[in-house]
Formats: sequence, structure tokens, C-alpha cells
Amino acid sequence: LTAPDTALPALRGAVAGLPSYVPGRRSAGADIAALASNESHYDPLPAAVAAVAEAAGRMNRYPDMAAVELRERIARHLGVTAAEVAVGPGSVGVLQQIITGLCDAGDEVIFAWRSFEAYPILVELAGARPVRIPLDDAEGHDLDAMAAAVTDRTKVILLCTPNNPTGVPISHSRIEAFLAAVRSDILVVIDEAYVEYAEAGSDPDSLALYRQYPNACILRTFSKAYGLAGLRVGYAVAGPAIAEGLRRTALPFSVSALAQKAAVASLDAGEEMEARVAAVRQERSRMAAQLEAQGWKLQPSQGNFLWIRADDDLLARLVDAFNGAGIMVRAYQGDGVRITVADPASNDRVLRLLEAHSA
Ligand code: PMP
Repeated sequence: LTAPDTALPALRGAVAGLPSYVPGRRSAGADIAALASNESHYDPLPAAVAAVAEAAGRMNRYPDMAAVELRERIARHLGVTAAEVAVGPGSVGVLQQIITGLCDAGDEVIFAWRSFEAYPILVELAGARPVRIPLDDAEGHDLDAMAAAVTDRTKVILLCTPNNPTGVPISHSRIEAFLAAVRSDILVVIDEAYVEYAEAGSDPDSLALYRQYPNACILRTFSKAYGLAGLRVGYAVAGPAIAEGLRRTALPFSVSALAQKAAVASLDAGEEMEARVAAVRQERSRMAAQLEAQGWKLQPSQGNFLWIRADDDLLARLVDAFNGAGIMVRAYQGDGVRITVADPASNDRVLRLLEAHSA
């Protein structure tokens, strides 16, 4: 035997160099407005709470790893088959399965930037290469530049509509032209985390796109409009071979029994969810109109959030002001600030604060 060397375990280079995902700070106290994470400000749907309470009595047992009931319920909701559905611990969990399932080291994943912060983290963690394509002047996806960035190493393209954090959607016809233009062996993920908040007509008919282009994949979540962020459950709709592969890459039992039951109950309570979403849309319009009247230049957002582009000077002033007022928002250095649309009283606090800082 030789003497052990003294080196300590080390993270892979790709992990050591990862940017960290910085979540919005937790709210503490009744006077804090939690507008940093695009959560639903409503209490969970009563049917979801009841389903969780019922399932809690059996939590000594593992969940259904195949999530049959939930996958069948999602399939019925969308008019697809359960074989085309894969669920995971949040849509970010499903996305991790997608990227690790499709990318070898050195493969490329193209996405717009700025977009959802987890994209580059998941790509780098998989040893793949993130290819960031700057948003266009209207804060939307530059699909021509994204198509031009495709190489023979491209395996996955992420389209985020409406885009987090800018709120700008990608139209159906633009996604369709994009799908027609890119190679069919590239998986094009349409991340629709906020699609329920989009005005009718501004959202792509992603199911029609999926039926027409088998390399399209729809990614959705129960975290936003359905109000289950704390339970962690999301899903992908993809061709049966991909969906089956995603189920195989899943961490065993990664979607809890409570989350599965709550998600089924939430789909059953679709009308109640719709009414809540309609109220958020109305507040979003009210806020956008008032902010424009105050002199802010906004792109129309189709998410449950508003985006204010800000240089670092303005951003620093806004961050100070929001912090001082006990309003938690999400600041992105070099880009701007994202503010979740919530209840009218919190929204009014935001409007009053921004009025004092408008140009
Ligand atoms: N996609 C986008 C665009 C998001 O903004 C988020 C959450 N911030 C997610 C996916 C992931 O949501 P979850 O994992 O909670 O389903």
C-alpha cells in the first residue's frame, strides 16, 4: 500500500464554475410584498389542499413512479396520450432530464438571453455548451439569429414564451416558421411556464405545432397559474420515444405523491384557476397602463410579471427603493427589474414607488 495523497474531493470544473441560481428572498412579515418569483399570490386552490390532506395519510408509501393517474389526467386535458407525457419535479426538473437525456459533452443548446436563469446552469451541468442569442430590440426572441446559430453539435433549442423575464411572447406563425427551418433531429422545447397568463391569441397553439412537428416539445408547470410552486411538479409533452426516455432519466420517485394528487385536483379545478388568472391579466393591464402614463416604456407582457429595462444606475436606485419599501422584486444586473403582478394592494404599492422614479 502506498500512502494516500492529501488531495480532497473536487467538484468537476463545469460544476465549480456554475453561476448560482439566486432565488428571490423569502417574504417575512405581513408588510413584505413577495413579488420576486412570479408565484401565484392566491392561496392554493381548495381542491388541491384537500387532495394533499387526503394523500398525507399515505405518505409512508412511495409515490407512483410512473405517475399514471397524473399523466393520464394531463393527457386528457391536452388531447394527447399518456405515452407522450413525462412529469418531473417542477418543469425545471423535466428540463434537466431533457438536457441530460439529449446532450453529450460538448453538444450545444441554444436559447435566448436574457431568459430563464436556470437554462445556462442546466446546460453547463450536463457538460454541454450554452449558446446565448441576445433578445431583439423589442425584448423578444431573435429567431433568425437563433436558427443561424445552429451547428452540427446543436441538440436542443429552448424557446421561452412568454419570455421570462421580459414577458414578450413568440407568435404561433414565427414558431411555425422556425420549426420548418431547423433540422428535425433538434429538439425544440417550447417553455410555456406562464402560458396560462397570455391573452387569447398571443399564445402559440403549441399542441398544433407539436402535432405538425414531432421534434417540438411542450414544457409546462403547475408552479405558476395553478399555484403549486411549493410542491414541485411540471411536465413535458413530447414524441413517445423522447417522453419515454425522459421517464427513464428521472430520479426515482422525484414527484411526490402529494404533488401528483394536487396536480390532478388542480386540473380538475381549471375554471377556478382561469378566474384567478383573468384577475391577474386585468391587474397587469391596469399596471401597464399606469406605468406608461408615468412615462415608463414597457413591452407588453403576457406573463404574470412586468419588466422594466434599466441601466445599472437606475437599477441601483430602484433596488434601493424597493428594498426600503419592503417590496421584493427580481433585479438583473445590466438588464432590468422584473416585478410579479399580484393583488391590487401590492400592485398599488409598486405603482406608487415607480411613480417617484419615472423619467
Ligand atoms: N420555465 C420558466 C420560464 C420559468 O420562469 C420557471 C420558473 N421560474 C420555470 C420554467 C420552472 O418552474 P418550475 O420548476 O417551478 O416548474
